[in-house]
Amino acid sequence: MSGNLRGLFFQPHQDDAAIGLGGTIQKLLKGGMEMSYVYVTDGRHGSRTIPPDELVKVRREEAAAERRLLGIEAYFELGIEDGTLESLSKDKEAAAKAKIDGILTDYDPDVVFLPSKSDLHPDHRCTDIMVIGCLLEKGLAPLIIKYFVWLFPDFYYKEPDVAERVLMVGIDQVLDTKLDAIRLHASQLAMLSYDAMAAAVNSYFAHALRAPDLLGSRYVEVTGLYNAARRPEVLETYLDIVQPCADVTSILHGRR
Ligand SMILES: [Zn+2]
Repeated sequence: MSGNLRGLFFQPHQDDAAIGLGGTIQKLLKGGMEMSYVYVTDGRHGSRTIPPDELVKVRREEAAAERRLLGIEAYFELGIEDGTLESLSKDKEAAAKAKIDGILTDYDPDVVFLPSKSDLHPDHRCTDIMVIGCLLEKGLAPLIIKYFVWLFPDFYYKEPDVAERVLMVGIDQVLDTKLDAIRLHASQLAMLSYDAMAAAVNSYFAHALRAPDLLGSRYVEVTGLYNAARRPEVLETYLDIVQPCADVTSILHGRR
């Protein structure tokens, strides 16, 4: 693989990247990946106390602070109203897809990051479905890395979104900065302790997947990989950068 990998990270809301993959992102940036964020919605309905128009500005500033902390320069905003992805009118959906198409063409990513279609939040599922649709229509096959934010309680009704491979990445050395990045989204932490939730779920999966033995890690992020067989050179570089990591496909898929 010559040159740096180019990553395009789609996040439905301003804090999703930090919560879902804040550790892996730091490793990829340190490893030389050019990373750009795509904010799909405006996040306007993510507060019980801050009025929507004001919250859009607050979350934009929180997002900028996170990008400064992590060292991410490029970003795009689709500006869709928070919470409406599932019920977009035909016109609005076409406009959103045209914007996504334009970004994919201009940015030409090697790796695309998406929420899992099994995520509990409809904006997250719809982000996945919309971007996958654009990639298929354009005949693009970047390496796709899927992450989760809302795990519970969709165990009871989740849609299948079976990955080709499942990867766990040890994040012990970058955990503190990940939690700092999440805490910059203060409007969201006013409602829920996303920092504690992320640390707990990263710890839960480390122990469930025996990461202390396999990687010497007490915290891991777990992702689903797609198009891996079509982009072997991208995958090889990606795995080099994010180590310590381990393929846990057989552990997760062996119990279906
Ligand atoms: Zn979200």
